[in-house]
Amino acid sequence: MMTTKSRTRGNSWPFGLGALLWGAFACATPAADQSQTSLRGCKAADAPRADPLPPASGFPLQLAMRVPFEPTAFPSEGHVYLMYELHFTNFEMTPVSVRRIELVDADKKDARPIAALEASELNALMQVVGSWPSDGNTDSAELRSGQSKVVFVCIAFKRGAHIPNNLRHRVLTGESVVEGAVVGTHANELRVLGPPVRGADWLASDGPSNEENNHHRRGLPIFGGRALISRRYAIDWQQSENGSTFSGNALEKHSYYSYDQPVLAVADGRIVKVRDGLPENVPGHDEGFHPAVPLTMKTLAGNFVTLDLGKGQFAHYLHLKPGTLRVKAGERVRGGQTLAKIGSSGDAREPHLHFEVTDSPILMLGEGVPYLIDRYRVRLADDSWEMRTRELPMQDMLIDFGPTRVEKK
Ligand SMILES: [Zn+2]
Repeated sequence: MMTTKSRTRGNSWPFGLGALLWGAFACATPAADQSQTSLRGCKAADAPRADPLPPASGFPLQLAMRVPFEPTAFPSEGHVYLMYELHFTNFEMTPVSVRRIELVDADKKDARPIAALEASELNALMQVVGSWPSDGNTDSAELRSGQSKVVFVCIAFKRGAHIPNNLRHRVLTGESVVEGAVVGTHANELRVLGPPVRGADWLASDGPSNEENNHHRRGLPIFGGRALISRRYAIDWQQSENGSTFSGNALEKHSYYSYDQPVLAVADGRIVKVRDGLPENVPGHDEGFHPAVPLTMKTLAGNFVTLDLGKGQFAHYLHLKPGTLRVKAGERVRGGQTLAKIGSSGDAREPHLHFEVTDSPILMLGEGVPYLIDRYRVRLADDSWEMRTRELPMQDMLIDFGPTRVEKK
């Protein structure tokens, strides 16, 4: 019996910070959402009505807000997405109840909202610091005195629509309004990369989305005193057939279509760091997951390769098969070159490639940045395939990276 996404991600995170970092991923997605209209937990920039502002009060609301890492808008599926986190701390001595968050063009005076997050939507988007959504702490848009919460924001603009260069947040409570947290929308260069794997039927498991159960998006670990999301745009690439990632014995790694498939340099660059030699796990989910070595900060990623893409961006390939790494630190590689093979080392419940691009050469210590893949085909709801150029695949898309189909076992 296969585990499902919802079951895998329930609220069992048995390895504390380890689980917070890399966590479980799905065995298979029987009914992957390939809907072309799904915004994957993101809010449409649909120019909502402007809410009447409450009358000015004597003192400003003591609600601190900031966006620690500026977003970069990226295209996918007929939309351009803007994904970031808005951090709130309530400095009032009484609770603050957020009724609405409006996003306005910071460069326009008296701008009407471009998008608005209503209180009912904030339930799913606001997360108490130090908790997962599944902990049940997101059922209120209220901040107690002294409490900090993070709003996981994702705005979807229609392709071709104007995207302001800077956004300002207008937060309305019952009695007050406060504005701030101005944020740019094009912080990083969008790199155009080649595919990290070859062939067809690759499921972008836990790929970019703003869904509550996306463990890449919602984990918020602290490193060096900073809350960082290196995995903001990470994808667990799993090859899938008829909604399953394996055939035969689920406990045998060779049963998985992804296993032993080559991983490719996504661009010309220099290898920064590699790790090899960590043993692989027997596939297993939930209580059936027994890592081959204790999960620590050193072993979570398993065998890995970090590739310097230049201009301060780095590609990280995780959970590789031991003994298959073909590159060494310091070596220069060409885009498309095989770096290693997919395995199930580190915090991997089954063979897959965890791939992410960050702004740091050190695993986990960077902020995840979006990128584009130069061309691929995506499977639509009617099972036809559609070519995409220079987009970023999103959660649960089924992707064909090219005509070179790799023989499946
Ligand atoms: Zn992952």
